[in-house]
Amino acid sequence: MDMRVPLKIAEPVPVQDRLQRSLRELRVSVIDRCNFRCTYCMPADSLNGRGVFLPLEKLLTDHEIETLVRAFVKLGVRKLRITGGEPLLRPGLPALIHQLAAIEGLEDIALTTNGVMLPRLAGDLAAAGLNRITVSLDTLDEEVLARMSGGRARLNDILAGITAAEVAGFQQMKINTVVQCGVNDHTIMDLLDHFRGTPHSVRLIEYMDVGNSNHWSVDDVVPNGKWVSTIGNRWPIRPVISHNPAETAQRFEYLDGQGKIGFISSISQPFCGGCTRARVTADGLFYTCLFANRGTNLMPLIRHGDNPHDLIDRIAAVWAGRGDRYSEQRDLPREERQKVEMYRLGG
Ligand code: SAM
Ligand code: SF4
Ligand code: SF4
Repeated sequence: MDMRVPLKIAEPVPVQDRLQRSLRELRVSVIDRCNFRCTYCMPADSLNGRGVFLPLEKLLTDHEIETLVRAFVKLGVRKLRITGGEPLLRPGLPALIHQLAAIEGLEDIALTTNGVMLPRLAGDLAAAGLNRITVSLDTLDEEVLARMSGGRARLNDILAGITAAEVAGFQQMKINTVVQCGVNDHTIMDLLDHFRGTPHSVRLIEYMDVGNSNHWSVDDVVPNGKWVSTIGNRWPIRPVISHNPAETAQRFEYLDGQGKIGFISSISQPFCGGCTRARVTADGLFYTCLFANRGTNLMPLIRHGDNPHDLIDRIAAVWAGRGDRYSEQRDLPREERQKVEMYRLGG
């Protein structure tokens, strides 16, 4: 008897991993290149030599990304995040978004970007059907920003990107802010002040030990618990109750109605129990955890497979075997191992 998942069905065929976590969200990196060199992600000195980035012909094509996303949707994925590297560097991104927006069953397409190309692209992305944008911005201090971006970011370019996205209709954006102790933590209150009173919510992200090239140390992390009290002393806040266990951020709102803030506390308060996210690199490697050291190469089945069932079956089998909970086990002794870099995986 053929036990494979039928393709022509309206309802998804849900899969669960070994810890009973469903597959709900997919993050696809559409390119591994970037126009920044953030020290916590892609430090310039780690990129010595040619051939560090994927040649463009190794990237999944638009059609292949669509095939991939369709397969994940069959298994229960409802939310897609497009990321990178810097996803806006991928030629023709709006056309890809347009293709993906037509996939039945996919309810939400979001994008994470450093923002500098939004003045050129935000209108086309909105027209293509992109639902949401997250812009990464670590500080309003020009010098600190330059230092954190490897000398590449200019504040006005990122702010212009945010404005362009607003004009294009992205009314409520998330602003991702990685906090590093002694680097930008003294500028966080100014950043929050800037976005208070706007519909956008800043999310303070604890600096994570992703990849190997950022030389992470726990001493560089500012636990988000510190911010809850520091912010609360200046602008009283209260938690927003969430019933979504898959939410990565704990949300708070200002009592004076000036907006919301999020805290992503992967180091101090890991949230693996609700992790329903899969990640695929720009060349088709499927990872079940941000901190994984090995991925499953889906490219052969996407590019050369002659039966779409095979791709779905492979993804389902990998997910069913998933037991990842790295952040909850961070303190356990383990072998030194090479982890995949954030700019390949996309965060
Ligand atoms: N280039 C885009 C950008 O920066 O928004 C998308 C890719 S980037 C890898 C996705 C997110 O990961 C960004 O918000 C970035 O700040 C975050 N990130 C990168 N390295 C990190 C680290 N070591 N710890 C925490 N967040 C990190
Ligand atoms: Fe590029 Fe984003 Fe990584 Fe910064 S965080 S180097 S903008 S991919
Ligand atoms: Fe998910 Fe891995 Fe992060 Fe845990 S450590 S929340 S399993 S990506």
